Amino acid sequence: MKRKITIAIDGFSSTGKSTIAKLLAKKYNYIYVDTGAMYRAVTYFAMKNKLVSKTVLKEESLILKLNDIKLTFKFNKILGFAEMFLNNINVEKEIRTLAVSQLVSKVAAISEVRRKLVAEQQLMGINGGLVMDGRDIGTVVFPDAELKLFMTASADKRATRRYKELIDRGDMVSFEEILFNVQERDRIDSTREDSPLIMAKDAIEFDNSDMGIDEQFERICALVDRKLL
Ligand code: C5P
Repeated sequence: MKRKITIAIDGFSSTGKSTIAKLLAKKYNYIYVDTGAMYRAVTYFAMKNKLVSKTVLKEESLILKLNDIKLTFKFNKILGFAEMFLNNINVEKEIRTLAVSQLVSKVAAISEVRRKLVAEQQLMGINGGLVMDGRDIGTVVFPDAELKLFMTASADKRATRRYKELIDRGDMVSFEEILFNVQERDRIDSTREDSPLIMAKDAIEFDNSDMGIDEQFERICALVDRKLL
């Protein structure tokens, strides 16, 4: 049997990390974990409990409630990926809104939130055979991952992708607010004190501004295959 490795994919917002991660998981029969979904679900919980808004962040109250947050992924055979459940309720649609995107980086900067989610993520990858994407996977969650990718693309390209995704879902958003959100999240994620978004020393930088999915996938599979030799 081929050995199973851990693939860590980090990078800026909307660089297509999850698209590539899902394709890799399918091809190699690995588990895929979207850690952004976990931070989004905690943020959604905080919004529902009035602990975060554009002007408010009740950090202490949220920390006290962290034990009431149960996050699980359940594989949806029809969609071909795992959906996020918050306290046994499917919140996959709710966590992808612009409203959540506008608050998630504030919540993700709280160390206690990170500690809880990182511990859960490490447990999910204990047996290898995992593709995980996020902001701190190669630096904090799995510093020993066999393959680390760091995805980048121009802010304009990234905002265009995210805008299309939200418009296709029927959300009423403007390109300008999406561009602002993508840049603002990158700023907060890269400058926070705990586990900032930085490229791991041994990561491979992958700029996909001018690359289609097929080309990216082909190149990344070649990197994976080399690790599996
Ligand atoms: O990947 P996605 O864009 O869904 O992530 C949403 C947000 O969650 C990021 O902008 C970041 O603030 C936070 N995040 C994080 N660490 C991770 C994954 C996501 O801080 N490993």
